[in-house]
Amino acid sequence: MRLVIVSNRVTIPERQEKVAAGGLAVALREALESRGGLWFGWSGEISETVRELRTAQRGKVSYCVTDLTEAERQTYYLGFSNRALWPNMHYRLGLTEFSRADYAGYLGVNRRFAKALAPLLKPDDLIWIHDYHLIPLAAELRRRGVTNRIGYFHHIPWPPAEVFGALPFSATLISTMSAYDLIGVQTKVDARNLCDGLATLCGAQVDGDRVSMGRRRTLVRAFPIGIDVEAFRRLASASVRAATIPIRTTKQSLGERKLVIGVDRLDYSKGIVQRLEAFGTFLRNHPEYSRRVGLLQIAPPSRSDVPEYAELDRQSDETAGRLNAALGEFDWTPIRVVKKAYSRNALAGFYRRAQVGLVTPMRDGMNLVAKEYIAAQDPEDPGVLVLSRFAGASHQMGEALIVNPYDTHEVAEAIRTALAMPRSERLRRFQTLYATIDATDIDWWTSRYLDALAGIETVEEEAPPRPVKRGRAGRAISLARSVDLPPGTTRRTSRAIAPAASR
Ligand code: UDP
Repeated sequence: MRLVIVSNRVTIPERQEKVAAGGLAVALREALESRGGLWFGWSGEISETVRELRTAQRGKVSYCVTDLTEAERQTYYLGFSNRALWPNMHYRLGLTEFSRADYAGYLGVNRRFAKALAPLLKPDDLIWIHDYHLIPLAAELRRRGVTNRIGYFHHIPWPPAEVFGALPFSATLISTMSAYDLIGVQTKVDARNLCDGLATLCGAQVDGDRVSMGRRRTLVRAFPIGIDVEAFRRLASASVRAATIPIRTTKQSLGERKLVIGVDRLDYSKGIVQRLEAFGTFLRNHPEYSRRVGLLQIAPPSRSDVPEYAELDRQSDETAGRLNAALGEFDWTPIRVVKKAYSRNALAGFYRRAQVGLVTPMRDGMNLVAKEYIAAQDPEDPGVLVLSRFAGASHQMGEALIVNPYDTHEVAEAIRTALAMPRSERLRRFQTLYATIDATDIDWWTSRYLDALAGIETVEEEAPPRPVKRGRAGRAISLARSVDLPPGTTRRTSRAIAPAASR
């Protein structure tokens, strides 16, 4: 059975030497390389005229990419995906910016992807679609008669129904998910929220992990994503043996000082500003650590075209500058924020050198950095992970020091506890954490997901489905119509129909 992966961004190898600052790209490349198949998605490039597909064969993997127009990038990617879905799904209603034109652009790109992908599919292909940019893609493929097994994995959190329901057209959008045979999420909480949303917003019947809408059946399950633990462990020990640049230079610049490390895309979900404040509070409350420890925050910029990210950039500079001025000494800068991406090699060296890994997102689907930090530790003298209870990783990594990132004082005290922790306790916590992430690594994740998808008996194989379900008000909603454009927007090729659930 061939595997077909669809994701928002696809980088054809050769150009992959650039540092990938996202967990998704790294995980999927590893999955496809070992199995072979087709990877379809956006090239990451913009062009106004060229809209045909570009293909490339690399070993057992075919890559098939398309450019976006600038208007599509603005509406589908920056607009609806990153200013509406991203903040909503990270429980940040106050940051959610919805526009009908953006939503129309989002649906339009999903429709265009389905049109381009459908002719490339073979009857027994397993199709695996990734992430919030592509939620309605399966419904669009079904409309084109695709009856293959289609799975979806949602890498970011799924919020409670009351939060998701605040997004305009949420009922329409969530109802398109019945076109999937298997929906994977990171945690049981995400699975419960999604099932509640399907029941509340579009009247689905939920029985455990089975969801029925009209004639379709969908399984909703948690598959916590893993990392390549062995590869990270090897990278980290090699970095010490070879005295790589991060190891050598941090040694020179830090001397005997201890190192606390944070590694995150510059994103408001990561709690970077709150973390800097917590480190400042720690130094104020424990002046005996003055000159004896430093925080290195690696924060590669992302989505800088979105205004909320530009604001975060400014805030993190302001916070670090203010705290360094207040707490630093002429020969010691307590906080360094480095706004550039590092290779996994370099990160492995930094993780290994750091006595504390500070992973304190306000909300995060999983957080791969938490797992990478543990994988990179010296098994004889490991560091301590401080982990937000709102990261998906906290569901598996209870032996970390679990904190509430909204409580600056609690995070500050956890930093102190981590720095002072005796070796015996560090060893005990590390060994449990390492065993967990090793048992649930990236290979475990891909095979568990794909076995589940391949094992599902599909329903309605004879005809393209047009499931009918009940909206909250008892109105019938047709899936085949549910991904049409919202009223107030226009499309050249067909009439605009108001989605029934949202009228
Ligand atoms: N990363 C990287 N270089 C950097 C910063 C981060 O390669 O300078 C990688 C990091 O190793 C991890 C991923 O980016 O694999 C971030 O994944 P995570 O799940 O923590 O967060 P996301 O960015 O996907 O929200």
